[in-house]
Amino acid sequence: MKHRGILVVVSGFSGAGKGTLMERLVKSYENYALSVSMTTRPPRPGEQDGREYFFVSKETFERRIAEEAFVEYAQYCGNYYGTPKEYVERQLACGKDVILEIEIQGALRIKEKFPDALLLFVTPPSIRELQRRLTGRGTDSQAVIHDRLLRAGEEAEGIENYDYLVINDDLDECAAKMHRLIQDAHSAPCRNEEFIEEIRAQLDELKKGEE
Ligand code: ADP
Ligand code: 5GP
Repeated sequence: MKHRGILVVVSGFSGAGKGTLMERLVKSYENYALSVSMTTRPPRPGEQDGREYFFVSKETFERRIAEEAFVEYAQYCGNYYGTPKEYVERQLACGKDVILEIEIQGALRIKEKFPDALLLFVTPPSIRELQRRLTGRGTDSQAVIHDRLLRAGEEAEGIENYDYLVINDDLDECAAKMHRLIQDAHSAPCRNEEFIEEIRAQLDELKKGEE
């Protein structure tokens, strides 16, 4: 029986290590498809259009909203970010587990639209370590880092909406843990409704045969 993939939402404070973890996950395990979002934020040094994000103007982004091209979108620190619909639907239908690395407003919208999505929240082991990672990444000014740490305070209020908290201390251990959580999620009854219906239908047949 061919299974539909799971929609996996990964959120976490900026600098928690989400991007690094996703890269590790996709490299180490099969069957994951990483959704590439569209954004109006400018590329960081080293980022490539179509790889980390599709970088577009505000006008283009707003046109895509009007065309209903996003599964969800949100504003974060003054920029738009959104998940293109077509890729996600195609990969889920192929049986891939699709990972959306998105912030909390988008995550909550996904949960409303797709109640069987799996929501994971990644944190570093401490906020001191978060500051170290943000500074060490060397991609953002002190003002941007300050903005992102303020935003982290707001995001921390929503952690209980997620299914699991994943602490990114050792990178390999964390990627392995995330993989296990996603694989185990495949066994939840809410993600096996077709199979359960099939088993029930077979039991009904059996009962009818005995009547
Ligand atoms: P995010 O995508 O959550 O904003 P990044 O993946 O860009 O975060 O990681 C932020 C910084 O922290 C990067 O410099 C990355 O190399 C580093 N980092 C990520 N995970 C770990 C880890 N487990 N231990 C130490 N440093 C890490
Ligand atoms: P960054 O600018 O650091 O790449 O991303 C900023 C925040 O936007 C991160 O929390 C990231 O997870 C989130 N984000 C990236 N893409 C999307 C998206 O398509 N939708 C939403 N809602 N958030 C996104």
